[in-house]
Amino acid sequence: MQNLLNYINGKLAEPCSGQWLDNINPAEGKIYCRVPDSTKEDIQLAVDAAQNAFSSWSTMPTEERTKILWKLADLIDRDLEKLALAESIDNGKTVKLAKSLDIPRAASNIRFYATAAQHFASEAHVNENDSVNYTTRFPIGVVGCISPWNLPLYLFTWKIAPALAAGCTVVAKPSELTPMTAFLFSQLCREAGLPAGVLNIVHGTGAQTGQALIEHPKITAISFTGGTVTGKKIAGTAAPMFKKLSLELGGKNPNLVFSDCNFEDAIKNSIRSSFTNQGEICLCGSRIFVEQTIFDRFVEEFVKQTKQLTVGDPLNESTNVGALVSEAHLKKVLGYVALAKQEGGKILTGGNQLEVAGRCANGFFIEPTVIVGLDEKCRTNQEEIFGPVVTIMPFNTEEQAIAYANSTPYGLSATLWTENLKRAHRVAHQIKSGIIWINCWLHRDLRTPFGGMKQSGVGREGGLEALRFFTEAKNVCVKL
Ligand code: NAD
Repeated sequence: MQNLLNYINGKLAEPCSGQWLDNINPAEGKIYCRVPDSTKEDIQLAVDAAQNAFSSWSTMPTEERTKILWKLADLIDRDLEKLALAESIDNGKTVKLAKSLDIPRAASNIRFYATAAQHFASEAHVNENDSVNYTTRFPIGVVGCISPWNLPLYLFTWKIAPALAAGCTVVAKPSELTPMTAFLFSQLCREAGLPAGVLNIVHGTGAQTGQALIEHPKITAISFTGGTVTGKKIAGTAAPMFKKLSLELGGKNPNLVFSDCNFEDAIKNSIRSSFTNQGEICLCGSRIFVEQTIFDRFVEEFVKQTKQLTVGDPLNESTNVGALVSEAHLKKVLGYVALAKQEGGKILTGGNQLEVAGRCANGFFIEPTVIVGLDEKCRTNQEEIFGPVVTIMPFNTEEQAIAYANSTPYGLSATLWTENLKRAHRVAHQIKSGIIWINCWLHRDLRTPFGGMKQSGVGREGGLEALRFFTEAKNVCVKL
């Protein structure tokens, strides 16, 4: 059985405790490797290494940092097949998705920030005949990056790339459920010549390793992506220590389909936004609101196409929906299906655990599930399920659609389907979400601000926002 290793001060290392956690392949329901069960001691070693590396990394010419990061991105491209296979085995997602989305995006994240740092300029405010102010920015120090299991290498690199490009040194903790690609990435860091201590990767649980990281007094900023409950806990620890915080949290995103939409496009992409990555994307549109006049037609076609999705072995290229990440998560999702029934929901398709023949017989599979007959206020429509489960509800007016969209404590993203230009903008401006897609979904431009309102988060990632987060502004005023 393979034991994964931490990456501290440029070396691969066993955890100080000598303890390991089992890592399960969710498509087989079987332990296939072990993860370091790291403690405070490992975090201390990692923070020490990051502190030692800070002065040379933060003062290295940006162009030099760019070269090293660019090399890392090239190595990800070189290892695309290997990394995609590893991601699929570790997470349960289809290898096809890992190959087309997760791993290419990890390389893009690094390339994007490697070059963005070169375009990150100081501002100047000139008050003629009186003074010149210029605002320069300095890397904030040693930062903590904590990422979730749903898009493992994609979100891991989305955090560490801007931190490293900005000149910070990093202690990162990937999810204990999906540690494999971060481990493989640590080997690529060595190959790319990333100086020792610049990036340290410490594996382990949230409660032990993650908590030790956020509590450490030398960690100046924390970039976190994960659940809203965890985000609250992290803020509770970090805020009184005056650490800078970026929180990317959960969502319960509305998908609004107006009768003047391009129907085929709306159906095809609503299937994508409902079931891609088993519905385990924070941006999935799990609440579909359809204008009454096309409701029956939409539901019929949506259910028909949902039934056509192939669920099963993630390593099979023709599979559309793979395994959920863990048995606990499968139980949680099935629990929400049971709740939906109790709340009066009608399951039009799916709703059951799926038994897959062969090597995946003990895997954590569930049928893509479509539910109707619920109102917007019930728990099924208020709480994040994070699985291949969607509800479809009718609306009569634009005002009603907006009210339904805004009716949860979350505000991450929303999708609108309409060919009416004025309506598209009007509705977009009234929805309380950080990200609005009109006639598209998950159409990403890395320059744009990314993040949520309300309980979906605090702060924005993406573009220059992330470089601002990982730097401190200093204004210098010169009297003329
Ligand atoms: P989670 O909150 O359980 O865990 C996320 C990470 O935090 C893991 O690495 C975990 O080990 C760590 N962690 C847990 N407790 C901690 C603590 N006390 N201190 C420090 N670290 C701790 O989330 P998850 O189940 O891995 O991911 C799913 C959630 O992430 C969903 O709610 C989803 O919506 C959200 N998510 C949000 C975005 C976004 O960009 N807004 C993107 C992806 C996922």
